Amino acid sequence: MANKDNEASAFEACVLSQTKIIETIMENSQDTIYFKDKDSRFLFNSRAHVCQFGLEDPRALIGKSDYDLYPRDFAESARRDEEEIMRTGKPIIGRIERWIKDNGEVVWFSASKYPLYDDDGQILGTWGTTRDITDLKKAEKELELVNREYEALNTKLKELSVIDELSGLYNRRHFYDTLSKTMKIFSRVRGRGYASSFSLVLIDIDDFKYINDEYGHVFGDIAIRHVSQLLRAQTRLSDYVFRYGGDEYAIILPDTDIKGAKELGERLRKTIASTPLTRDGKDITLKISVGTATYDEQVDAMDIVQQADQKLYEAKNNGKNQVC
Ligand code: GH3
Ligand code: MG
Repeated sequence: MANKDNEASAFEACVLSQTKIIETIMENSQDTIYFKDKDSRFLFNSRAHVCQFGLEDPRALIGKSDYDLYPRDFAESARRDEEEIMRTGKPIIGRIERWIKDNGEVVWFSASKYPLYDDDGQILGTWGTTRDITDLKKAEKELELVNREYEALNTKLKELSVIDELSGLYNRRHFYDTLSKTMKIFSRVRGRGYASSFSLVLIDIDDFKYINDEYGHVFGDIAIRHVSQLLRAQTRLSDYVFRYGGDEYAIILPDTDIKGAKELGERLRKTIASTPLTRDGKDITLKISVGTATYDEQVDAMDIVQQADQKLYEAKNNGKNQVC
């Protein structure tokens, strides 16, 4: 009780009259404050509100409406809000508004609007406060841009994690992922009675150490890229071409039997042997050995790799520059 008395006397003793409190708010608030009649004409405006239009006297806007100050669509939308507030008695909080000035400048507002009551409790208009959130909107836009850049970067990083930098082909890690996925798909397809299969082709450049030793490592890299481009150009879009290791490549051929795989191997061998690289005016011909295998109910992905590898070994042992 003693506390309540103290509070009351402190309030009465307050040096601020109600008029002073209102004046302080209306003169100093950075958010604009206004009071409007039933026709949405201004009854009373804060200083910040008149300053928005380069005016100084807070009475300058009395009797005017949004139609005198803002573009028509802006004024119409505000009027619709106010009619609804007067009809329902419900405030609208945090309405985002965009004001495009005559000079093209865009200003964003967050506006809260309330019903205005007279002494008898009858709605006589509306009142509201409006905050300029243009800087916030700009920051939001910048954040959106940064986020988009991050997304693009993430996509790039994802791509990079499966791509071999030197050749631009898929890398070894992606080879094993793709192989096991392809095996799953074809074992399911075959389980449904289709005879379809896929094949694996392993390729190794013949005597590549000699190319490196004779012409240098940089030229060796050029040769790796050259073969990569030819492999890409000679295969279908549905085939997967990988750089499996140093001078080794792998190709997964969906829907292809062993005959098709050998035909492709032969075409690749001939194309590479007949498309020499040139260095100091001299043609340098690359040759490849090819090992092939076809999926035939192997349970483990490594089985088919071992089979193709065994064939590649045979091709090397039999004198290189051939398909097994
Ligand atoms: P073979 O005919 O039996 O395949 O003999 P090879 O000389 O090609 O020997 P092998 O395939 O065993 O060795 C490949 C060489 O490729 C070994 C390595 O020095 C070289 N190499 C591996 N990666 C790169 C690379 O990124 N760039 C270059 N320039 N050379 C590489
Ligand atoms: Mg080699």
